[in-house]
Amino acid sequence: MDFDGTVTQQDVGEELFRKFAEEEKVNKIIDDLLNDRISSRECWIKLCSAVSLVNKNEFDDFIVSIPLDPTFVKFKDYCKNENIELYILSDGFDYYIEKIFEKNRINGLTVYTNHLEIVDGKLIPSFPYYDDASFSSANCKRNHIINHSSEEDFTVFIGDGNSDKDSIEYCDFIFAKDDLLKFCEKERITYFPFKNFDDVIKKLDVLKGRKRLKKRLRAQLKRQQSYITE
Ligand SMILES: [Mg+2]
Repeated sequence: MDFDGTVTQQDVGEELFRKFAEEEKVNKIIDDLLNDRISSRECWIKLCSAVSLVNKNEFDDFIVSIPLDPTFVKFKDYCKNENIELYILSDGFDYYIEKIFEKNRINGLTVYTNHLEIVDGKLIPSFPYYDDASFSSANCKRNHIINHSSEEDFTVFIGDGNSDKDSIEYCDFIFAKDDLLKFCEKERITYFPFKNFDDVIKKLDVLKGRKRLKKRLRAQLKRQQSYITE
């Protein structure tokens, strides 16, 4: 599942840059990203260099002021009880995800994301899971999905936006809201709409109750192709 706009209701990455860099610059860079003029990786590099000097205390205070979706903790516990492996695949940064989880006393989740450091007030991003097959996410979410699933598994994706576009079709079930929902509509990708995790739990309970659960054929094919080519 995605983090920004999904685990949290706000997009933390975006909000941070809107607060700590010149808003006009930030809007232009994000507009370029959303119109596929630049990749996500380029977008993050540009955004980080748009921030002149950051006061670490102010930066951290702002981060921990951002709340989780109030239904997330229940969902995390649900996955644990139901033996569902939960992975956070984020095109944001470990720097703020760790702080937000710590503030909310959430631990033990596996998180794959980009890396951010503050060195002498400058933001330095790096991208340990970058793959040029993924334009819309500097952390290639597709690779994590493939690495953590086998042909017997049912895979579920939960997300809200641009960074999820390249990876959702590798999953059997897609839960989408906001921009991701619009994208699924436009591309005629089958999805379940959701507003919060109570909706997701309800739907997963229904799916689990089915005697024979069908995999998405297209996702199966895409996964098989990548097993062969990689
Ligand atoms: Mg998101």
